[in-house]
Parts: sequence; structure tokens; C-alpha cells
Amino acid sequence: MGQCSYHPNVETAIRCVECDRFVCPKEWVETPVGYKCPEHGRQTLSARRTVKPRQFAFALAASALVGIGGSFLIASIGFRFWLISLVLGLATGEAARRASGGHRTGSIAALAGFSVIAGSALTGAGYLVMALSAAAAVISVMQNRW
Ligand SMILES: [Zn+2]
Ligand SMILES: [Zn+2]
Repeated sequence: MGQCSYHPNVETAIRCVECDRFVCPKEWVETPVGYKCPEHGRQTLSARRTVKPRQFAFALAASALVGIGGSFLIASIGFRFWLISLVLGLATGEAARRASGGHRTGSIAALAGFSVIAGSALTGAGYLVMALSAAAAVISVMQNRW
């Protein structure tokens, strides 16, 4: 047991795994490797916000599957309605974000947007459908971030 580095009157047994500082429940940050002080915990959180290559690859596969695959599916039905393109865009954005591990970043949004644009272009869906679904994909990924 020792005194919390941030609250002199608080006894605690938990130390930051990075700097060995005593931390109490008021400020410790739980991370996969153990408890950390606010300073080192923050670094872990910001590291989580950057997309790793593997996560990007997953997002690429998911958005291509839903965005391009979905466009072909819509084209094969022969029922082309702007609302479906909107839903496809949202679904592509959601799939890309989930596959990446939940990232709401510009790169994932661009990936989802590009996939539906490619899907629209490959199926000759037209510019309106292309723009709508791309906008929906980007909004789906970036919502709550703006
Ligand atoms: Zn620390
Ligand atoms: Zn404390």
C-alpha cells in the first residue's frame, strides 16, 4: 500500500504499470496491460484511435464486400431506387467501421465512400446514386465525431 500520487490522503495498492506511481480509483485508467496513471492512460487511449494496418485491411475487405457486392446485388435485382443506395452507403460505412474495430476516422470513411463509388461506377448506377451512397457511407462512419 502507498499514498496516491494525486490524492495525498488516499491509500492505494495500485501502481501505474508505466511509471510505478500509486494511483487510486479516482484517476486510474484500466488498459489491457494493467492500471495506468492518467498521463500514461491517455497515451494508450490515443494509440487506440489510430488505425492499425490489420484493422485497415479488415475494413477494406468489409467495405468492398458490402459496398461493391451490394451494388451488384441491387443492380441484379434491377430495382434502382435512391433510398436503397442510401441504405447501402450506411451499411457499407457501418461494416467498415465495425471491421476496423470501431474506428471513426477519415481513412475508414474514405474507404467506405470509395467502395460505394466503385460499386456504383462498376454497375453504371449514375452520379446521383454514387454521390448519395458515398455521402451516406461517410456520414455513417463519422457520425458522433462532428
Ligand atoms: Zn504512469
Ligand atoms: Zn488519487
